[in-house]
Amino acid sequence: MIRPVAQVPGGTGPGQRAVESLASRRGGQHEETAATRRCAVKADAPARASGPAPVVIDVNDHVVGFYAGRGLTAASPVAGIEGNWVDRAAWDLGTINYAVYKGGRALVYGTSPLPGLGQWERDYLAETKGIVHFTVVLSHWQLDHVAGNPSYTDSTIISLELTCDYLVEHRAAIEAGTLWGPPAMDVVLPNMTFKDGLVVYLDDLGVEFHNFNIHSRDGNVMVIPSDKTLYAGDALEDTVTLVLDPGDIPSHIAELDRMRALNVERIYPNHGDPEVIRHGGYTKAFIDATREYDVNLLQRVHEPGYRTMPLEDFIPDALANRAVSVLERYRVVHANNLELVHDYWKDTPIPAVS
Ligand SMILES: [Zn+2]
Repeated sequence: MIRPVAQVPGGTGPGQRAVESLASRRGGQHEETAATRRCAVKADAPARASGPAPVVIDVNDHVVGFYAGRGLTAASPVAGIEGNWVDRAAWDLGTINYAVYKGGRALVYGTSPLPGLGQWERDYLAETKGIVHFTVVLSHWQLDHVAGNPSYTDSTIISLELTCDYLVEHRAAIEAGTLWGPPAMDVVLPNMTFKDGLVVYLDDLGVEFHNFNIHSRDGNVMVIPSDKTLYAGDALEDTVTLVLDPGDIPSHIAELDRMRALNVERIYPNHGDPEVIRHGGYTKAFIDATREYDVNLLQRVHEPGYRTMPLEDFIPDALANRAVSVLERYRVVHANNLELVHDYWKDTPIPAVS
């Protein structure tokens, strides 16, 4: 059962409207919109890639995570391909996606960075949890979170309208392996879209989805109010966020403030420390760490030597209170952020943020 969200917790923010949803499902029928129809394109029969099994992390008795990379699992099956995006975007940092389940139904939040992993997860849910009905909700459009979509061509795949737009825009390049480089992958588009907010029910368990423009404009985070948990997609990463739209950093900071107002106590990202995830997740200090990083990225951009400043200089408070920890691979992410933010803001006055 899928209902438009009644009210977005934390109020409204840039690009947000409190009550607006284009997706609803009544009596088994999809309510079609222009976006829904445009995105309801069936892909050809997907190629299934094999791959190493993920590490299964039980978050609680109705949420399970599938962790791959960061040294926890075997090398990715495309590790031999020079410059492949699977290692760069997922395996090196570590990646996890989650499924919520109840009463034979599962809601899969993002579908992993490999088609083979997507199928492994679906099979696991069917065999160990007795799941017979799957609904997918995408966290955002990026390749490491949609590569498992081909395992769900018989299911409802829901995303923000903007996510669908991005996938349509980049589909040819993704399928040619030229957007992020190899490997090429099949794109299976969402067949239902919404805007801003949505609630999906598994029996009586309500699962909310909200748009936050932090890492990407189509960031779609998952909240389970009865658990007081937030599944942040790529909006929050341990060690630091990957900046893609440097001109949006002032908005990202405002969005982090809006996120902090959510009534949640525990946070689970898609790229984070598996031990933290395994032991109860992150607290709101994780949001503060991301905010500290964004504020420093912006405030220090005109200082000499900015482009070579170490990661530690941007999150001193977060490291002191152990909200996040330095994973060496994130120094590459940080270096990319410095270049991008510097190029955008070097000749532009910095807006007041604190
Ligand atoms: Zn990601």
